[in-house]
Amino acid sequence: MDHQQETEKDLVLFSKEENVAIITMNRPRFRNAQNARMTHELDQAFNRAIIDDEIKVIILAGSGKHFSAGHDIGTPGRDIHKNFSRIATNWWDHGDKDGAENIFVREQELYLGMCRRWREIPKPTIAMVQGACVAGALMLAWVCDLIVAADDAFFADPVVRMGIPGVEYFAHPYMMNPRQAKEFLYMGERVPANRAYEMGMINKVVPAAELKTETMAMAKKIGEMPRFGLALTKKAINQAEDRMGMRDVMDSTFALHHVAHAHNSLTSEDHLAGLNPKSMAASLKDKNERTKNES
Ligand code: ZN
Repeated sequence: MDHQQETEKDLVLFSKEENVAIITMNRPRFRNAQNARMTHELDQAFNRAIIDDEIKVIILAGSGKHFSAGHDIGTPGRDIHKNFSRIATNWWDHGDKDGAENIFVREQELYLGMCRRWREIPKPTIAMVQGACVAGALMLAWVCDLIVAADDAFFADPVVRMGIPGVEYFAHPYMMNPRQAKEFLYMGERVPANRAYEMGMINKVVPAAELKTETMAMAKKIGEMPRFGLALTKKAINQAEDRMGMRDVMDSTFALHHVAHAHNSLTSEDHLAGLNPKSMAASLKDKNERTKNES
């Protein structure tokens, strides 16, 4: 197989089944690592589903064995210095800027901004998760209204290993309770689907072979409700989360997140403390195996 970047065509696929849109991240050989290009293709796909009056519900999926390994921190298609049009914020181009300015502007737009924008999609969204849902992938699952996971799915945010207090869309203490959020972040370990369900982070765990059928059945059932009623209900619950402080917590934590990036840049080789996909994956694997051996 040719692993060159130029062979990557559609990073996001769009399909329709009756009144359900299925938006699929499509970089399976890189575990659907999200680069800026994929983020923009996702945004276009969401828009397509929003303006299509036939579509009532949107499913977000990942092709291959994994939902997503998170942000692209090391594939040949990594594009962190490339400028794309700003959609979620009105910041200037980051690509030719230095230091904290570069990273702050990029992450404000591509991570925090885009995720908040997708959370406000006025149609119900369901994340359909199999395999890895790690770090930046959590943000994509969390902005969806519901999360259905295969029994082989696992969730982790190992970025404290980089000295960073969680991924940019800091919803951790709202997606699980605060004590669980501390454990989730301090340990950085894989949390299997069943535990994520017990923590209240996901709605349903199903056998891997039935993931698509079960998610589609849920989507179609929701699709029987009136469009505007669903949109108002979504807004009501999102407003409740914001009044519980989620938006403010996310803004204040974004500043801490960027203190961490700046600290890393001052004390190590880059803003990620010199860690790469290999070392991050190894840390997850080791911890997982250790847990297995202890139980
Ligand atoms: Zn960051």
